[in-house]
Amino acid sequence: MNRRSFAQSVGSAAILSAIPISSALAQGTAASRTAKVMAVAAHPGDGMFTMGAVLAQQIERGGTGLLLSLSLGERGAPKNIPVQQYGELQRAATENAARLIGAEAIFFAYPDAEIPFNEESSLRVCDAIREHRPDVVITHWSGSWHKDHQNCHLIVRDAIFYAGLETLSRSLPAHAVSKIFYPENWEDAANFVPDTYIDIDSVYEKWMQACDCYPMWRGQTGFFRYNDYYSSLSVMRGCLSGSRHAVTLMSDVNQRSQHLQSL
Ligand SMILES: [Zn+2]
Repeated sequence: MNRRSFAQSVGSAAILSAIPISSALAQGTAASRTAKVMAVAAHPGDGMFTMGAVLAQQIERGGTGLLLSLSLGERGAPKNIPVQQYGELQRAATENAARLIGAEAIFFAYPDAEIPFNEESSLRVCDAIREHRPDVVITHWSGSWHKDHQNCHLIVRDAIFYAGLETLSRSLPAHAVSKIFYPENWEDAANFVPDTYIDIDSVYEKWMQACDCYPMWRGQTGFFRYNDYYSSLSVMRGCLSGSRHAVTLMSDVNQRSQHLQSL
């Protein structure tokens, strides 16, 4: 296999692997055939930089998008801004960014760096899932160095289980989530293997504008070049999947089985 045919094979795999999102889209109400996508992030920046493009793309196609931030990411404050004030800046940035892509933003405001993985946090996310009833949930991959990201993964895993458990009595009825995906995040890179490529070209500029609401994106809070990293990554993923800009997701291992009549 030469380099060109390798690229073509990656591209065709990407098109096929876009089916999980499309399938979820088809599982919406028969009348609208739209997908409800819920993104759950430890910190607001993670939500918009790594999950926002998929939300924007699904919203543009008639679905809905909800971004839940478990914390305000306030401890990423630069030296010249008090921590609490920075948290409110992050909240305002997220509300503005969500508005730009047509999504709803909600916040639980657990302390940044101390997001707890316990029954209370899992049941709180469970209740949010039962309230908003998403078809698809996107959250952190577990292979992260960051304890908040690891805990977010575990919280959402248990929350989805609890949300779908008919015999678990809460204030709202049970809701089964159809699909779980994990986005590409520079901090969650251990053993991350993308299997789903999403063409985001039609929403790329809108997503860039949304990301630009955050001081972190503009390089005002630390060393990492978020803007360069995620914009370049989308170009590279686009090269591999036959579009100008793309983002990737990894599907949950438990939803990967396929039923084929023949190979
Ligand atoms: Zn984070």
